[in-house]
Amino acid sequence: MAPEIKYTKLFIDNKWVDAVSGKTFDTYNPHDGSVIATVAEGDEADINLAVAAAKRAFHRNSEWRLMDAAQRWAILDKFADLVQRDTQYLAELECYNNGMLLSSAILSLKYNVVENIRYLASLADKIQGDTIPLSGEVFAYTLKQPIGVCGLILPWNGPILLFIVKVVAALAAGCTVVVKPAEQTPLTALALAALLQEAGLPAGVVNVVNGFGVGAGTTLTHHPDVAKISFTGSLEVGKLIQQAAGANNLKRVTLELGGKSPLVIMDDADLNAAIPYAAYSIFSHQGQMCIAASRVYVQSGVYDKFVQGAVAMAKKRVIGNPTDPATEHGPQIDAEMFNKVLGYIEAGKKEGAKVLTGGKRVGNTGYYIEPTVFVDVTDDMKIAKEEIFGPVQCILKFDTLEEVIERCNNTNYGLAAGIFTSNLNTALQFSKHAEVGKVWINTYLMMGPQAPSGGWKDSSIGIENGLQAVDAFLEQKTVAINL
Ligand code: NAD
Repeated sequence: MAPEIKYTKLFIDNKWVDAVSGKTFDTYNPHDGSVIATVAEGDEADINLAVAAAKRAFHRNSEWRLMDAAQRWAILDKFADLVQRDTQYLAELECYNNGMLLSSAILSLKYNVVENIRYLASLADKIQGDTIPLSGEVFAYTLKQPIGVCGLILPWNGPILLFIVKVVAALAAGCTVVVKPAEQTPLTALALAALLQEAGLPAGVVNVVNGFGVGAGTTLTHHPDVAKISFTGSLEVGKLIQQAAGANNLKRVTLELGGKSPLVIMDDADLNAAIPYAAYSIFSHQGQMCIAASRVYVQSGVYDKFVQGAVAMAKKRVIGNPTDPATEHGPQIDAEMFNKVLGYIEAGKKEGAKVLTGGKRVGNTGYYIEPTVFVDVTDDMKIAKEEIFGPVQCILKFDTLEEVIERCNNTNYGLAAGIFTSNLNTALQFSKHAEVGKVWINTYLMMGPQAPSGGWKDSSIGIENGLQAVDAFLEQKTVAINL
C-alpha cells in the first residue's frame, strides 16, 4: 500500500505554507507513472521568503547563532533518532517517489543515512582554528565561522542521503539553509524537514522550497543574500550554477556532478569477485548513480570469460515492482530519463557496438529497462564518452596497464575508478595515476561518511563527507593580538 503523504506544502520559517502564486505540480511513481501527490510549486517569491527567514535565523543574536556547538550536535543527534524511528515510512516514500528498491532504501536508511547524520553532527563541536606566533609579542589565531545562508540544490537520484549529506554538514557548521529538492522527488525532503522541526530546530534554520530549476533554482543561485551554493546534479546545470553564483555577489560553490567511471579487470583478477562487483556497480539503482562503473575495461586474457559472466549476471537480475522484496531491478525515474537511456542504447548500436543482452523496455507501464551489456565498444563512441545514467554496461578490451590508464583518463569526468587485480603494485600504480576523486581496489561503491568524497576535472568542485565536510560551510578569519 502506498505510504500516506503527510507533507506537500513549502516549509518556510518552521511553517507549512502554500506557494505565493498558489501553483502546484504533480509528482509520480516511476513504477507505473501514476500521480502520488500534488505539491506546492515554489518560485521567486517563495525563495525570497525562505532566504529572508534563513537570514533572520542567521542573525548574530538569533537563537541558532547563540547556541553552543554541542547543542547543535544534540539537536542533530535527536534528528538521527527520529529518522531511525521513521525508517520504514521514509523508505516507502523514497521507493514510491524515486523507484528505489524498498529493500535498498531500508538498508540505506538503517546503515547509511543514520550513520551519516551522526557522523556529520559530531563534527559540530570540533571546529577549531590555529594559534600562530608572529613577531615579538604579537601572535595570531584563526577563527572558523559559519558562512551564512546556504542554498542547497539536490538531484533526484538519492533524495534522502543527498539531503542529509548537505543539510547536516551545513547545520553542524552553524549555517542556515534553503533546500531546493529535485522536481522529480519533492516528498522526502519535506518529511525530513518535519523531523528536523520535531528535533527542536529553531524557525528559519532549515527551509524547503520545492519547484523547478528555472524559477526556484535560478532565484536561489542569483540571490544576493545567499553566501554559498552547494549543488549536486548534472555537469550541464553545474556550469550554469557556477556562472550564476558569480553574477550578483561572489557565492562560494560546491559542485558534485556527473561521471563516466571506469572499472578495470586485470588478467590476474579474482573473477568470482570481479564479475558480480562489475554488475553491482552498474546495475544497482538501475545505473542511476554518479559513480556507476559505466565503462568496464577488461584485459584480453580474461576478456571472453568476463563477458560470459557479465551477460549471465545481467540476465539473472530480477526485474519488478520496487516494493517487492524479491526485486533486484526497478524502474528509471521518469519518461525523460527512460527515453534518454533508450536513445543511448540505439546510438550505441548505430555506432557499431553489440548488445549481448538487454537493450529493451520491460512491460508497457512505468519506466523499466532491461539490464544491458554492450561489447565491441570503442572509446570514441557516445556510449563510452557520455554519462548514460541507466543500466548500460559498456565492456571494452585492453592489453597493458599503461594503455588502460591512458584510456581511463581520456575523459573530462574524474569522479571514481576501480580496479580488480591480485597484484599490489598494479593496484597502486593505477591508484596513483587515475585522475579521479576516489579509487576502489578489489571492491566498488564502498562509501561511508568518514571518507571524503569529491571528484577531479569536470566531476566536482569541493569535498563532501570526511573530517573536512563542515569546511565547505565555514569562512576563516585571522585575528592578530599584540600582548
Ligand atoms: P540536474 O542537474 O538536472 O538537476 C539537479 C537539480 O538542479 C534539480 O533540483 C534541478 O531542479 C536543479 N536545476 C536545474 N536547472 C537549474 C538551474 N538553471 N539553476 C539552478 N538549479 C537548477 O540533475 P539530476 O538529473 O537531478 O541528477 C542527476 C545528475 O546528478 C547526474 O549527472 C549525476 O551524476 C549527478 N549526481 C552527482 C553526485 C555526486 O556526488 N557527484 C551524486 C548524485 C548525482
